[in-house]
Amino acid sequence: MKKKVIAYNRVEKPVLEDLQQKYDVHYFKNIDTKRDPEFLKQLQTAEGIIGLDLTVDEELLNHAPQLKIVSNNSVGYNNLDIEQLNRRSIMATNTPGILTDTVADTIFGLLIATARRIPELDAYVKSGNWTESLGSDYFGSDVHHKTLGIIGLGRIGDAIAKRAHFGFDMDILYHTRSKKPHAEETYGAKYRSMDQLLMESDFVCLMTPLTPETERHIGKREFQLMKASAIFINGSRGKTIVEQDLIAALQNGEIAAAGLDVFEQEPTDPDNPLLKMKNVVTLPHIGSSTNETELKMSRHAADNLEAGLNGNKPPSLINPEVWK
Ligand code: NAP
Repeated sequence: MKKKVIAYNRVEKPVLEDLQQKYDVHYFKNIDTKRDPEFLKQLQTAEGIIGLDLTVDEELLNHAPQLKIVSNNSVGYNNLDIEQLNRRSIMATNTPGILTDTVADTIFGLLIATARRIPELDAYVKSGNWTESLGSDYFGSDVHHKTLGIIGLGRIGDAIAKRAHFGFDMDILYHTRSKKPHAEETYGAKYRSMDQLLMESDFVCLMTPLTPETERHIGKREFQLMKASAIFINGSRGKTIVEQDLIAALQNGEIAAAGLDVFEQEPTDPDNPLLKMKNVVTLPHIGSSTNETELKMSRHAADNLEAGLNGNKPPSLINPEVWK
């Protein structure tokens, strides 16, 4: 009998088809996982889960007594309750590394788009308003030779620093839990306390994972420490900031602009005041989503899943403590 697998939301088609050849795959998209009767029924006998954004908590695990592995098709895994998974000796995996350059491209693109007001000016031209040479009301801010502060200089933060240093002659400041000698030597990056980084940076870019430590760690006080000309970029997770405080900081002119790939609630409410602000550039959490990278991530997530289902150590195991 084929092993049962639940696929959720995003698994690229060729990879899903390949898994369907080998396993009894049940695919679900954007359902209420707490209530969907078919999902809960299949979960009872599933040995593996693969996909994106499925909340795997105690309640879900109570419906999944045979589960061996949860393969997340992303690098962030704040949707997984690792303590509960460990208690039940269930493996959890993610897709680190594969998406690093793609996300760094998106976040750096977002930074430039925000500083140079590209979406606003695009809309201006397309709406037929461009009838004469423009004045300073439409000017943006330079990116090159400015100071970029990166909070969370891990794989993606490092790739952003590389682009900023080699491509745009920017000065790099960073804040993490541990010092990064590679970035200091290669990009001249300088370590700063969080407060000092916020006060000195022209651009503040948030690239930490969402953890109990980082949840809501940029709020009113932090926005007030930033320069009034500062541009804030969030590429991490929406809940790493207090969104209401960002709205207030923009409304009060405490910072100049923001570029956001992530929101407190996703998809964000169409009435979110951020969506009405000209100095805010938004993306629909699309950092890693190119055709090439999504396919590679799905393949890697499937490799992780198959290893776990077949008694082998998955290449990107998040909780090695359950591996015996
Ligand atoms: P990573 O290599 O693990 O890097 C994370 C960095 O955050 C590390 O440098 C870590 O510092 C730092 N960090 C963790 N907790 C911190 C804290 N309390 N204070 C300061 N720094 C802290 O991960 P990655 O691959 O770069 O990915 C980072 C995050 O980006 C993911 O977890 C995910 O949330 C987000 N992401 C977003 C998208 C998107 O589409 N927008 C796509 C992929 C990933 P240490 O090295 O000192 O531990």
